[in-house]
Amino acid sequence: MKLIFPFLILLPFIPLNAQSNPPFILALGIAQDGGYPHMGCEKECCARVEADPSIKRYVVSLALVDPAENKWWLIEATPDIKEQLHLFRQLTNRAYAYLPNGIILTHAHIGHYTGLMQLGKEVMNTNEIPVYVLPRMKQFLQTNGPWSQLVSLNNILLKDLIEGSNFQLDTAISIEAFTVPHRDEFSETAGFKIRTNKKSYLFIPDIDKWSKWNQSIVEMVKNVNVAFLDATFLKSSELKNRKIEEVPHPLVSETMELFESARPEEKSKIKFIHFNHTNPLLWSKEKKLEILMKGFGLAEQGKIY
Ligand SMILES: [Zn+2]
Ligand SMILES: [Zn+2]
Ligand SMILES: [Zn+2]
Repeated sequence: MKLIFPFLILLPFIPLNAQSNPPFILALGIAQDGGYPHMGCEKECCARVEADPSIKRYVVSLALVDPAENKWWLIEATPDIKEQLHLFRQLTNRAYAYLPNGIILTHAHIGHYTGLMQLGKEVMNTNEIPVYVLPRMKQFLQTNGPWSQLVSLNNILLKDLIEGSNFQLDTAISIEAFTVPHRDEFSETAGFKIRTNKKSYLFIPDIDKWSKWNQSIVEMVKNVNVAFLDATFLKSSELKNRKIEEVPHPLVSETMELFESARPEEKSKIKFIHFNHTNPLLWSKEKKLEILMKGFGLAEQGKIY
């Protein structure tokens, strides 16, 4: 008889809590692999950060958070991981564990996975942090030092993502990996569709060109609520000392053209991300406003989606 009482109290509260605290995404970084400012850049773009350090931005990373289960996952382990875990703590008022319940990686370019090194013996010496990857990325980590040591010492526990199938992270959140055309020297490149019990998200930080893909980005955006899309360069004239063809990305202008005839609700789902230091969308109020006036969104560090 005694046991019934606590159950009566608890039952109505658990679902209520889940309803009023739906999962969310918190952007922990929005810059391209080199971050902002960029090493060695003495141009105006990065000189601005010296004058105003508050405009500094970390490399692209998202926190995927489920308040109802008090769990969170880190999407991408960037070279800025230390600052980003600190930022996450600050923004969430230490409501979650310092280390995430898992780390989900897109590909083996330095901005997207090298933060894993902080989990090894030299620093945190973590115990079996699940790291979710596609097959080539898994093999890359297993067979190349120093990452292979994280595997052999069980600092990380590699978990297989299967292209096109849903992986349930907890009762409210699932993630589906797909591949996109990118340079792919060391691994395939994943994009993710993240579904929560409230919303769905698309995350494609790196892709060579939309036209090289066998999927329609316009159709994919129709099926989600928020789409974080590669916005490395605004215009082709941005790189002065390097050929832009060597580092192909959809220009922001090209992506906007694709969505030109889309409805305003569709355009506003797009949150551009992965800005190169040369991209004025990192610092120019006028350029940012131009994009917003055209109905598109810009991902912001520290913002909830
Ligand atoms: Zn990148
Ligand atoms: Zn710069
Ligand atoms: Zn890349």
